[in-house]
Amino acid sequence: MRTLFRDDHQLFRDQVRRFVEQRILPHYQGWERNGITPASLWREAGAQGLLCPALPAPYGAGGDFGHAMVVIEELARANCLGIGFSIHSDMVAPYLYNLGTPAQKDRWLPAMASGELIGAIAMTEPGAGSDLKAIRCRARRDGEHYVLDGQKTFITNGVNAGLIIVVASTEPDLGARGLSLFCVEANLPGLSKGPAMSKIGQHAQDTCELFFDQLRVPADCLLGEENAGFEYLGRELARERLAIALRAAAHTEGMLEQTLAYTRERKVFGKRVSDHQHNRFILADARSRLTMLRVFLDDCARQLIEERLDPVVAAMAKLNASELQGQILDQLLQLHGGYGYSSEYGIGRAWADARALRIFGGTSEIMREIIGRSL
Ligand SMILES: Cc1cc2nc3c(=O)[nH]c(=O)nc-3n(C[C@H](O)[C@H](O)[C@H](O)COP(=O)(O)OP(=O)(O)OC[C@H]3O[C@@H](n4cnc5c(N)ncnc54)[C@H](O)[C@@H]3O)c2cc1C
Repeated sequence: MRTLFRDDHQLFRDQVRRFVEQRILPHYQGWERNGITPASLWREAGAQGLLCPALPAPYGAGGDFGHAMVVIEELARANCLGIGFSIHSDMVAPYLYNLGTPAQKDRWLPAMASGELIGAIAMTEPGAGSDLKAIRCRARRDGEHYVLDGQKTFITNGVNAGLIIVVASTEPDLGARGLSLFCVEANLPGLSKGPAMSKIGQHAQDTCELFFDQLRVPADCLLGEENAGFEYLGRELARERLAIALRAAAHTEGMLEQTLAYTRERKVFGKRVSDHQHNRFILADARSRLTMLRVFLDDCARQLIEERLDPVVAAMAKLNASELQGQILDQLLQLHGGYGYSSEYGIGRAWADARALRIFGGTSEIMREIIGRSL
């Protein structure tokens, strides 16, 4: 049904699926226990062209957004929401590619494509999440440096990250209009990291806090223009939100396939779980709603490729996909009975991991605000 993909995308999908089956799934539970995915996985993924797939070589793997979609979808379909490739490839790298000087791109992007350098983006603070104008992290110009002081929290890939795009205030009196972006190398003195945070899901994801104490960042690490950070964030958010929506949809589709297999196997009252009409209706509703979502998201992807995806439509994509994911996964877990609640079956983990998608990248309430204001 999907007309978005060419033969080379299909071949790439087979390759990514094999990589996930062979290099990720056998180790995933161990990474969940450790609270982190090893940096070596990133180098393996880079060697296979799985990182920054949509950017041209040498800044990326030389594909297009269709290749990026393939990586997003295959990881999600296999229930690996804790692998942080998408923030690295579909958010941090495009910021550098779109806003960076030639020197900045040459310095960081090839290393991000090869997996030697892992990227993160740090906007959220303990007192500023949805409302970015409340950002307190301060960057003061001092000669050939900016001096950063402040704290960030919930930073995806934080522990592994070697490069962090930090949003800081260069002009506090201007609120959101006084924010700037900085490329911060994680080994600079004055930057410290907390341990991987304890969360209810996505345990293989090394989400952490960052602390800046008189952190001196060379002035040539300013990304784009001073005080233009908020505008840049707005420009890039449509792709980020669509990427989250694509993850949500593929994840739910993958879990529906798994649930179909389970409910065809398991018998209750002499019949397969899936043969009881109530359950068959739940599965039919899930399939119908996911099919409708898929058509909408593929259309959004086409609009993104043609550089005409409206931020309001991207907000609708994220809202619809992540809310539907939550509703359907809850029902799919129920169809597993007690086994849904045991950590032996992936559905329980999927349910907990998915909860974050209604929160990060802008909460569902913020998506409704964006859509509501446009009416
Ligand atoms: C697993 C995970 C990974 C993350 N990764 C990153 C990352 O890599 N980088 C990063 O910078 N951040 C990251 N975040 C942070 C995430 O973006 C924020 O948690 C999110 O934006 C919400 O901010 P908050 O937690 O401060 O909630 P708050 O902003 O305090 O919101 C609290 C509640 O109020 C609601 N609310 C807020 N404003 C309104 C309004 N105007 N009207 C009605 N309701 C409203 C919210 O929807 C929410 O329900 C991550 C979070 C999680 C959970």
